[in-house]
Amino acid sequence: MKDTLLSILVLVGILFVSAVITNWFARTMYNRCGSCGTLNAKRRTHCRSCGKEIS
Ligand SMILES: [Zn+2]
Repeated sequence: MKDTLLSILVLVGILFVSAVITNWFARTMYNRCGSCGTLNAKRRTHCRSCGKEIS
């Protein structure tokens, strides 16, 4: 029973860490458009979906 609990904890920990890394990566590499919510590469100055300028 203790082993099961431990493996669940490890699994939750791995999922949490990968979620944090994915989130960090997305925030580092992409900008989210303020008006339509589309993810745009950092080098873009205007949204690829609606053409609005990204600050
Ligand atoms: Zn947009």
